[in-house]
Amino acid sequence: MKQFNMFIDGQSINMSSKLDIINPATGQAFAQCPNGTPANVDNAVSSARRAFKLWGQTSSEERKQKIHQLADTIEANMPELMTLITQETGKPINGLSGVGSGMEVGGAIAWTRSTAELDIPIDVIQDNEDARIEVHRKPLGVVASITPWNWPLMIAIWHVIPALKAGNTVVIKPSELTPLATIRFVELANEILPHGVLNIVTGGSAVGTALCAHSGVDKIVFTGSTATGKKVMQMASATLKRLTLELGGNDAGIVLADVDIRSTAKKLFDACFHNNGQTCAALKRLYVHESIFDDVCDEMARLAREVNVGNGEQEDTELGPIQNAQQLNIVMDLAADAKLNGGHFLTGGRKIIGAGYFFEPTIVTGLTDGSRLVDEEPFGPILPIIKYTDIEEVIARANRNQSGLGGSVWSKDIAKATHIASRLECGSVWVNTHGALQPNAPFGGIKQSGFGIEFGLQGLAEFTSIQTIKINK
Ligand code: NAD
Repeated sequence: MKQFNMFIDGQSINMSSKLDIINPATGQAFAQCPNGTPANVDNAVSSARRAFKLWGQTSSEERKQKIHQLADTIEANMPELMTLITQETGKPINGLSGVGSGMEVGGAIAWTRSTAELDIPIDVIQDNEDARIEVHRKPLGVVASITPWNWPLMIAIWHVIPALKAGNTVVIKPSELTPLATIRFVELANEILPHGVLNIVTGGSAVGTALCAHSGVDKIVFTGSTATGKKVMQMASATLKRLTLELGGNDAGIVLADVDIRSTAKKLFDACFHNNGQTCAALKRLYVHESIFDDVCDEMARLAREVNVGNGEQEDTELGPIQNAQQLNIVMDLAADAKLNGGHFLTGGRKIIGAGYFFEPTIVTGLTDGSRLVDEEPFGPILPIIKYTDIEEVIARANRNQSGLGGSVWSKDIAKATHIASRLECGSVWVNTHGALQPNAPFGGIKQSGFGIEFGLQGLAEFTSIQTIKINK
C-alpha cells in the first residue's frame, strides 16, 4: 500500500500509527498516512511560529513570486494530483459537464495565480496639517486550516494561499478521509517555501481539536459541517482566535414559469448533481412553478436515468460513488424518511448493489418544507423538487431554513429574477446558474452557514489585522 507522510518544519514525518485511506469506488484501503497526535500539532505550530518571524517580514512581491511557483508545481504535477483526488474522493477524472478532478486541480491553479496577484495597499485616510493617518494590513501569525473531504485540494488552496499571501504561516489538517492530494501539495510546496511556512498534520478530530485549542494559533479557517463549526467556534474562544467558518448549505433554486424547459433542466441537473451533490454550494432544494412543474420533473428524471455512474477513473464516468460509508448512510436514511412521508420517487432511491458506496441518482417529488429531505442538507445524489404557486410564498419558504450559503433564480426576465434573488437570505445568489464560484468574487455564508469571506481582496483581508498609524503634525 502506498505510504504518505506528514511535513513539519520541512521534514517528512512518519508514525507507526496509521490511517487507512479508502477508495470509495471499491470500499478498499489503497494508501496510508500517519495518524497524527497533539504532540505533532505542537511541533507544527512551533515550527510555523518560528518561520513567521521571517516570512511575515517578506515583501508582498516576494510572496507573489513564491506563490506563482506553487501554481507552477501544481500544474507540473497535475496528472498525479488528479489521480490521487479521484482515488480518495471517488470524484471522476472528467465528471458531469466537466466537473471532476481535472477541474479541481485546474481550479487550484487558477485560484493560486489569482490570489498571488492580490495586494491590499496602505489606505491613507487623512493627510492634512493636523495629522496623517495610515491604515495598514498586517499578517496575523499562525493560521490553522481544517478542511473537509468533498473538494480536498481546492479547499486547501482556498485556505492556504491567501493566508500565505498575507504573510502568515500555516498548519493544515486535511480530512482524515481524503488527505492524500493535500499531503502531496504540501510536499511539493516545501521544495519552494522556507521550512516551517507550510506544515501538515494528518489525523482525525483529535488533531483538529488540538489545533483549535492551541495557544500558538492566531486564526482558524475551517470548512466543514455546521455541527463541527460550532465546536470550533467554542474552542477558539479560549484565546480569541480569529475565525473564518465556511459551513453547510441547503441552497434553494427558484424556477419561474417562463424558462426554456429543456436547456434549463440540464443546467439545474448539473447544479444539483455534479460531484454527486457533495458540494457546499450545490443546488439542494428545487422550487418549480406549478405551470411547468411536471415538464421540468420529467426532464430532470430523464437526465438522472441517463447519467453515467461508475468508477471515476474511467474517462466517461459522470458521477462516482458517495465519498464515505457514513455519508451514504445519511443519504439512505433521508431517502427512507422521504418514502415514509409521501415522497414520490421519479428515479433512484437505492444503494447500487456491489462494491463501493454508489447510490442511484434520485429525484423525489410530493414533499414540502418540514420534511427532512427538504430541510436538511443531504450532501448526496438526491434532490427534492417542490411545487409552488405564488412567488412571495416561495421566497418565504426558501428563506425559512437555518442555512444561508447560496441560492438561485431561473427566468428569461433578468430584472425580475435579479430582484427576487436579492431577496434570498444567503451570501451568494445567482441568476440562471448556481454555485458558479470564481477567484475574484467574494464567497461566504450567512445564518448557520458560517461567517467570513473567501476570495478576492475581501478574502485576503480575512487573513490580516488592521493597524492604524496616526502621525501627529
Ligand atoms: P466535518 O465537519 O465532519 O469535518 C471537517 C473537518 O473538521 C475534518 O478535517 C474533520 O477531521 C475536522 N473535525 C472533526 N471534528 C472536529 C473537531 N471537534 N474539532 C476540529 N476539527 C474537527 O465536515 P465534512 O463531513 O468533512 O464536510 C462536509 C460538510 O462541509 C458539509 O456540511 C458541507 O456543506 C460543508 N462544506 C462547506 C463548504 C463551504 O464553503 N461553506 C465547502 C465544502 C464543504
